[in-house]
Amino acid sequence: MLLGAIADDFTGATDLCSMLVRGGMRTVQLIGVPGPNDPVSDADAVVVALKSRTAPMREAVDQSLAALHWLRAGGAKQFFFKYCSTFDSTEKGNIGPVADALIEALGCGFALACPAFPTNARTVYLGHLFVGGVLLNESGMEHHPLTPMTDANLVRVLSRQTEGTVGLVPFSTVEQGAQAIRRGMTGLKEQGRRYAIVDAVTDAHLLAIGEAAEHHALLTGGSGVALGLPANFRRAGLLHEAGDPASLPAVTGHTAVLSGSCSRATLMQLGRARESLPVYELDPLATPDAAALAKGALDWAEGKLGMVPVVIAASAPPDRVAAVQARFGREAAGALIEDAMARIAAGLVAGGVRRMVVAGGETSGAAVARLGVRSLRIGPEIDPGVPWTLAEGSGPSVMMALKSGNFGAPDFFTKAFAMLEG
Ligand code: ADP
Repeated sequence: MLLGAIADDFTGATDLCSMLVRGGMRTVQLIGVPGPNDPVSDADAVVVALKSRTAPMREAVDQSLAALHWLRAGGAKQFFFKYCSTFDSTEKGNIGPVADALIEALGCGFALACPAFPTNARTVYLGHLFVGGVLLNESGMEHHPLTPMTDANLVRVLSRQTEGTVGLVPFSTVEQGAQAIRRGMTGLKEQGRRYAIVDAVTDAHLLAIGEAAEHHALLTGGSGVALGLPANFRRAGLLHEAGDPASLPAVTGHTAVLSGSCSRATLMQLGRARESLPVYELDPLATPDAAALAKGALDWAEGKLGMVPVVIAASAPPDRVAAVQARFGREAAGALIEDAMARIAAGLVAGGVRRMVVAGGETSGAAVARLGVRSLRIGPEIDPGVPWTLAEGSGPSVMMALKSGNFGAPDFFTKAFAMLEG
């Protein structure tokens, strides 16, 4: 293992994995902190996906340290703490406290912090985070229900979350390339700063930052700043490329789509799927019981399972979601449907499904937990940020594509399976 990463949420972990695979590293995503006796995956990079972004601070720190301990024992040569490219956190954390704990455990005294991801229009200029053309605190993130971001100045934001001090490697230095950035970071470290926010507006900046941090024990940031890391390992002669890093063993079996996302992109994808695939819709108002909802869907699917994917959807437009939420309450409605979808996932696998697309972050989390999945080997990308993966755990191995609601092109569901045939 060359790179050991700790991600503060599930889809963020997958995003980082995809970036590393694109860079030529064979990558595995683990779900939660592995047990002390869990085998170390045969991979160049291992990303431990936590649910620590909004967890109580102590819990987030403890989980992150446990992950670090495991990755260290597994032989990782460098560590990465992955958080959101919009720096999702509160005044108290968890980015600062987790990074502080990792720095202390590694004894490195310093880490860079760079959430920039220009491909997704997240850029950092003079320490200020922009989303598209606007400052973070005017991007809608100021209204986030859990982590409202009301200050775009990351030097200030991170300073409030850490006992250490925070400096800046500004654009003018970053423009000069890796050596200048390295000198900038060394200077800050020598002044006693614990962190450097590093400006980045283009992928070229991210590549230079990655090169400058070649010998850092720990990097922190969005998946963008990992762009330059595979090249470091390659230059050092550590990355031995044997074949396609995204190749997965062939898995045969029935195919299915489970959709619990109500995001606009997913609703469009479902509309497109209806033109060519059999679609079943759950009706939680008529059947407000997870087991009964699941039974209805699985009865419908029986006899239809095969190479043409069946599509089972809870997804609904805003007015229908509002009606369901008005009846059961927002959280109970979500929990009811997630429970039903998880049961359906298990029923489909029991019925021989081995290739499955799941739409929705929470829905994916529920399905993966129910299936006892412990690791995802990252395969080829279907659309940006959504790869096919080989899910392994307590049950049979299943090819899974776990799609965050708003990701993917309109033909995502058919395209995903066509790719496996090709
Ligand atoms: P996304 O990635 O689009 O945010 P998630 O799966 O994370 O999707 O979240 C969607 C949430 O909406 C889940 O909790 C799911 O159970 C819930 N949900 C799905 N269908 C409905 C529906 N018809 N009515 C109410 N809630 C729903």
